[in-house]
Amino acid sequence: MLIKPKCPVIAVEEHYWDKELAASDQGFKPELAARLRDVGTVRLREMDEAGIDIQVLSHGSPSAQELSGPEAVALTRRVNDRLAAIVAANPTRFAAFAALPTCDPAAAADELERTVKLGFKGAMLHGLGNGVFLDDKRFWPIYARAERLDVPIYFHPSVPHPAVMDVYYKDYAKDFPMVIRAAWGYTVETATLGVRLILSGLFDAHPKLKVILGHLGETLPFMVWRIDHALKRPGAKQVAFRDVLCSNFWLTTSGFFSNPALLCCVMEMGIDRILFAVDWPFESDNKPATRWFDTMPLSDEDKAKIASGNAKRLLRM
Ligand code: ZN
Repeated sequence: MLIKPKCPVIAVEEHYWDKELAASDQGFKPELAARLRDVGTVRLREMDEAGIDIQVLSHGSPSAQELSGPEAVALTRRVNDRLAAIVAANPTRFAAFAALPTCDPAAAADELERTVKLGFKGAMLHGLGNGVFLDDKRFWPIYARAERLDVPIYFHPSVPHPAVMDVYYKDYAKDFPMVIRAAWGYTVETATLGVRLILSGLFDAHPKLKVILGHLGETLPFMVWRIDHALKRPGAKQVAFRDVLCSNFWLTTSGFFSNPALLCCVMEMGIDRILFAVDWPFESDNKPATRWFDTMPLSDEDKAKIASGNAKRLLRM
């Protein structure tokens, strides 16, 4: 199966599990856990079958954002060293985003720099950092370093704060377990983080910082007009919400294969900010994503940007 137009395909939100950071199967189905731990035969075969040339690998939940204590920094370093070895074993098929020990932001910034020197393309952070939204100023040294190194930070969802789960979702979580996850809760959490990152002034302090959101921007492209319009009402502190979203953020197609949603992103953010991703193996098959790619109502030139052109520029691949 080949994606048209014929161009390299880079998928940028593709997960794996490290033997130490994900020491147990976390209650996931054994076959999903096995796929997360596969960084060879199965993964490569399914990439080939779907026409995906390169996966940019990142750890799946549980993330280093849940680590604390003195072991966190050394553990995360071991995780990244093993990921570097995975990439080195298949350098034409894999690249990587680092895990960072956000419980020690200074060490996390240093780990970002260390891994970028090993060839990593940036870092992925998941959900809250030990219960704290990642826009908090304590984490800014990580973003300062990312700006200086000119690598993006990918903000990935995780489950909502326990208090939010209790008030928002517990009535429905038993019958509809995905409502706290990919069906809704993940999106609300990550969109909220995106809004908070912009309101925090982070991008005034670090105007060249590049961030990535998956899942077609976690609803923010759909909402940007209304957010921007409402924030401009007189009497409040002013923030150039749309300008920051459209200058500092990139989006990926992970787990969201919809032409109407994609066209909204293209219209609000521009074609140069959208990167192809599957979210393998949480999306259990790559092929629906590449089949969808073939149906995108875009020119071949624009599709080539999504397939790999934008990733090559942003991640310098
Ligand atoms: Zn994911």
